[in-house]
Amino acid sequence: MSETLFALTNDDAGGATPELYEELLDFLDEQDVRATFFVTPYQGGKRIDAKPEWMALLGRALDAGHELQLHAFDHGSTFEFGVPPDFMLDIIPDAKARWAAEPEEVQKAHTLELMSDRIARGKAIFQQAFEYEPRGFRGPCLSMSANTYQALADHGFVWSSNQVVNPMGWRYINKDYDAGEPWQADVPPHPYMYTSGIIEVPMLSEYTWYLTPDVEEKHFELIRSDYDRVRELGGVFLTLSHYYAMTGEWATGLDVYRRLFDYARELGDVRFVTVSKLVETSLS
Ligand SMILES: [Zn+2]
Repeated sequence: MSETLFALTNDDAGGATPELYEELLDFLDEQDVRATFFVTPYQGGKRIDAKPEWMALLGRALDAGHELQLHAFDHGSTFEFGVPPDFMLDIIPDAKARWAAEPEEVQKAHTLELMSDRIARGKAIFQQAFEYEPRGFRGPCLSMSANTYQALADHGFVWSSNQVVNPMGWRYINKDYDAGEPWQADVPPHPYMYTSGIIEVPMLSEYTWYLTPDVEEKHFELIRSDYDRVRELGGVFLTLSHYYAMTGEWATGLDVYRRLFDYARELGDVRFVTVSKLVETSLS
């Protein structure tokens, strides 16, 4: 069996509770795992480089070999870069209702010009803060549109990680454990050429959203069975997570990852990589 590349991704750095992000960094150090962090450049109306506590933590992340890429511009709207997938809207009832009530209004905000402007502004702040150009992007709430992919290509991005292989993670968030929704037939568990020349690197799912100990086993079984299936298929295993939903009083999420890392290492032939490394390795 070939080696399985495992990429843990984590969103929303730059937002509230940096101390919980620090807890995740400590955990990843202890586990000797490199992750990819999607950083929001202008969250809460403030540039990331005007947040000294965050800049220190993100500098520490870079020093430890993690990678930082771009996540949204201000993360202010569920529809910032397009329309999130249905299973995401199902856990955000207000957004779902708005999308149903006024689809034209929602889509008006996704012209190429507007998307390009937001990408350019986000990229500029990111580049000034970290002194390199971001090459990867994730939309807030996985909101994406054809114009967003085009805007990414126009601004020199190489890859995006927005498509989802297994929607069940979101069904679990809704406590709908028996939805039985299959893996999405048109989303393969490996990088592929998507649109506008952008490489899409799909995530399997989100497994650790505000877990309590009583549901740990269910979520561990979901992530473990997805890992087994990817490994069997010879795919790559990319997961989505959020630092504040898996640490502190919600540290059950870290327990799920601790168990999965142990499991993967026990099976063998696993390498923990950043998404850029994954893209470079699987396409070479
Ligand atoms: Zn986000």
